Amino acid sequence: MNDLKAIDKQYVANTYARFPVALLSGKGSLAYDENGKEYVDLGSGIGVTSFGFGDDEWKAAVVEQLGKLQHTSNLYYTEPCVKLAEMLCERTGMKKVFFGNSGAEANEGMIKAARKYGAEHKGPEYYTIVTLENSFHGRTLGTLAATGQEHYHELFQPLPAGFVHAPANDLDAVKKAAIENKACAVMIECIQGEGGVVPLTEEFVKGVASFCAENDVLLCVDEVQTGNGRTGQLYAYMNYGVQPDIVSTAKGIAGGLPLGAVLFGEKTEFTLGAGDHGSTFGGNPVSCAAACSILSRIDDALLADVRKKSAYIFAELSGAPGVEAVTGMGLMIGVKTVKPAADVVKACMENGVLCLTAKDKVRLLPALNIPMDVLARAIAVVKDACA
Ligand SMILES: *Cc1c(COP(=O)(O)O)cnc(C)c1O
Repeated sequence: MNDLKAIDKQYVANTYARFPVALLSGKGSLAYDENGKEYVDLGSGIGVTSFGFGDDEWKAAVVEQLGKLQHTSNLYYTEPCVKLAEMLCERTGMKKVFFGNSGAEANEGMIKAARKYGAEHKGPEYYTIVTLENSFHGRTLGTLAATGQEHYHELFQPLPAGFVHAPANDLDAVKKAAIENKACAVMIECIQGEGGVVPLTEEFVKGVASFCAENDVLLCVDEVQTGNGRTGQLYAYMNYGVQPDIVSTAKGIAGGLPLGAVLFGEKTEFTLGAGDHGSTFGGNPVSCAAACSILSRIDDALLADVRKKSAYIFAELSGAPGVEAVTGMGLMIGVKTVKPAADVVKACMENGVLCLTAKDKVRLLPALNIPMDVLARAIAVVKDACA
């Protein structure tokens, strides 16, 4: 561990504050470090390993595709990419899908499409996108500009123009910002993940959706973290009864392989045409085969199970000693603790449970299929650490 730590520090760019653990292997929701210590994983690699480590069905789909082709580029048709796009559209009512490799890349595609739509439908001055304060949309220059948290911006000026930030859950402020700035789109996360697992109110999301529809402003929903079953619906917007014009997603979609997707609705399905956008790795057949396996298993029964486990966590932790509040939806949960969140995470780790932080909260993003007994064991550890 100390060797690995020193070599990492010397040769890997020092952009991550890592936990002092080197994970060697895992199966399902259990992971093992180099000393053979077992951990229950409540972080899923930040909401990525949707069905845990080394899930048999997922692995079989990946290995089968590896035996056929690992990459072709987008110059050729491949079955996994086409099948996944069809599956995504059928499950969401969206019309077309663009594939990239990450959340930030999906958001870049969403931003480009929104700008082109504004220019084509309203005029070249309609390029601004309203995003929310405390949002997080990624680390590229464009998605940083979209991110409504100043501290991410400070060292990287100048950022691309054309983004304004309005307070979350303040419908009048969003409307005013959109009108005054000639916005082409409003971009939201239904639950602000990196911002501290803060759900938007239903009234606000519905209000933004109506405003957007009435004013031909696009409703863009960043489902990078909230998507793919995480919140107890296939996509978080489905909890709010709205239909977005564009959706971006990534993290959990392929169960641990890199894949991002932009879903276009009726208004935007033809906005990006040949040559407007692209990605060499985008729609990679192995990642798409993995995603087909994952998505086909996020069915009504699994989603009901996610909601059931969510209710269990809320019941266990709400009002527990040292817990001030429990926020979130489904298996995307924030725990506001009396102790500093980092201390709680450290205590959990010492006692064999991996969890995350988000702002001042402890963040839990367990695998969607975490067995109930394993979850109960881990939540007992979290509860102890909070007290
Ligand atoms: C993680 C995240 C991103 C960025 O995704 P990357 O794959 O790291 O580029 C964008 N938006 C939201 C809401 C996220 O949670």
